[in-house]
Amino acid sequence: LEASFSVIRNDDGPVTGLITVLHDVTEQEKMDRERREFVSNVSHELRTPLTTLKSYMEALEDGAIVDQDLAPRFLKVTQNETDRMIRLVNDLLQLSKMDRQDLYIQTKDTDVTQWMNEVVDRFDMVVKDKNITFTRDFSEIPIHAVMDRDKMTQVVDNIISNAIKYSPEGGTVTVGSHIENGGAQIYIQDEGMGIPLKNQHKIFERFYRVDKARARNLGGTGLGLAIAKEIVVAHGGTINVSSEYHQGTRITIFLPSHFNPEAGDQSG
Ligand code: ADP
Repeated sequence: LEASFSVIRNDDGPVTGLITVLHDVTEQEKMDRERREFVSNVSHELRTPLTTLKSYMEALEDGAIVDQDLAPRFLKVTQNETDRMIRLVNDLLQLSKMDRQDLYIQTKDTDVTQWMNEVVDRFDMVVKDKNITFTRDFSEIPIHAVMDRDKMTQVVDNIISNAIKYSPEGGTVTVGSHIENGGAQIYIQDEGMGIPLKNQHKIFERFYRVDKARARNLGGTGLGLAIAKEIVVAHGGTINVSSEYHQGTRITIFLPSHFNPEAGDQSG
């Protein structure tokens, strides 16, 4: 603990008060450490779009470039991914201010199943060498949610990346969407190592990792789910984890069907 004192007096008159400010040094040290870790967190966030870019460029190099149908589509994906990386960096810089009020949500009515299909399609392309199978458990009934598509794509990308990262060779990742209370319930379920019950409530905290060494080896920094939570909460939604240690993890997101971010509607 650190203390600083200020004397209160009227002009040069008598001393009428004393202000004592106590600083929690360990809290200060923790903030400094978190700030230093920010650079490595940014690297992690850029990894997913870069991996996609690399896969598509390799596919182009392997012959897709002369395919009149594939080439423009693949180039479009690389363009979209680059754009998304730029927006991602902007989002991360916003997050670095550690000010939730700054998060700007630009919502549009979205067909959730169509959007989720596009996200999973992209991952199908990337995970070929890890032997992961994607199962789609999408509602037959169309689901609509009012959401910021880029930001929610960032959220789901992050959770699917985690599911892949923590999955065993040959594991299955199930991505689902269902209607709940008129809104959208989205879940991502893996067959990975799971998260012990005592750590589960912490995984949405910034920089929190269950197993630091392991997470670092896997390219993890502990920021992904913190960003995810801020974005979902800014949509008036919720995000939860249920996990069985050594059995698998399920992350569930709920997005309300009606939401007005301008009104600060958090009711869902
Ligand atoms: P990281 O960059 O480390 O993946 P996240 O914020 O995305 O950071 O996740 C925080 C921590 O939660 C991870 O380090 C990991 O310990 C745990 N975690 C997240 N998703 C999973 C999962 N699907 N299976 C097991 N553990 C997970």
